[in-house]
Amino acid sequence: MNLLVFQEEFRTENDCRNWLFSTRWPQGFRCPRCNGEEYTLLERRNLYLCKACRYQSSPIAGTIFHKTKTPLLKWFWLIYRMATSKTGVSIAEMQRELEIKDYKTIWVMAHKIRKGMSDRDAHYRLAGLVEMDESFFGPTVTGKRGRGAEGKALVIVAVSTWIDGTGKERPGFAHAFVADDATADTIENLLRRLSVPEDEITPLVSQIRTDGWRSYQVAAKELEIAHHRAILRDPKDSMKLLPWTHRLIANAKAVISGPHRGVSEKHLQRYLTEVCYRFNRRFWERQSFHRLLNACASTTTITRNELMAKTAEQSQ
Ligand SMILES: [Zn+2]
Repeated sequence: MNLLVFQEEFRTENDCRNWLFSTRWPQGFRCPRCNGEEYTLLERRNLYLCKACRYQSSPIAGTIFHKTKTPLLKWFWLIYRMATSKTGVSIAEMQRELEIKDYKTIWVMAHKIRKGMSDRDAHYRLAGLVEMDESFFGPTVTGKRGRGAEGKALVIVAVSTWIDGTGKERPGFAHAFVADDATADTIENLLRRLSVPEDEITPLVSQIRTDGWRSYQVAAKELEIAHHRAILRDPKDSMKLLPWTHRLIANAKAVISGPHRGVSEKHLQRYLTEVCYRFNRRFWERQSFHRLLNACASTTTITRNELMAKTAEQSQ
């Protein structure tokens, strides 16, 4: 999927509207109230009026496009850019590109798209051997400084691994969470949430690999998961010991301090989600735009007010 293909598929507002229509009603229009099949399009408000019962429905009700005043083409373009960029897009740059007057408008749009990403990834569970580590995120912090650094946001990262055909370990799926602390309870709850399928009690994770911090040991024991402590002989080797979590953390820090110029702790979780979302789909770049578009059209939204009020904990 490149720029030219995008422009061929979505040239007008109508192309976007038709795409949303056929995503919402793949078998043709169905009135959500009476199941009627005939409708009139109220173009200006993007509503579909049922000819039988006069109910007005919208294919974007409840989704991230709900009641938007911004043209759908601009939305689709922002989704395209966020889906295909390797490092995350600069919102200020996108504001100029899309000619959106109010910075807050596009800032909210981008966070709504991140909500779509987050809802998708919330379904994935970690399994097998999982590498875990934590790091502090903050404007002046670049590396790990031990647990409990003042005024920094603590982020716990987990990356599942798999062995490829040549016997080499590869990173699989990743998650990153802003956490209040790195106690055994927090780690245990997180692991449970990330690796126990709904309606089951046994984690899919069989082993965690960490730097040996006590909380991981206790949590692993509680969950009856094996714990492998990567032993650090030389601090310079830390990249080799926990390679996947280090790579993800470095990547997240580069994105957050790069195009986003640092983010407040309140919104950090959604930026982390964006980094993980992209990491988790690095092998499906060609489909990335349509996948994200589908996610955005099928997820519930987050409102501007919620965005302004939310704390880091609530935003998970
Ligand atoms: Zn109807």
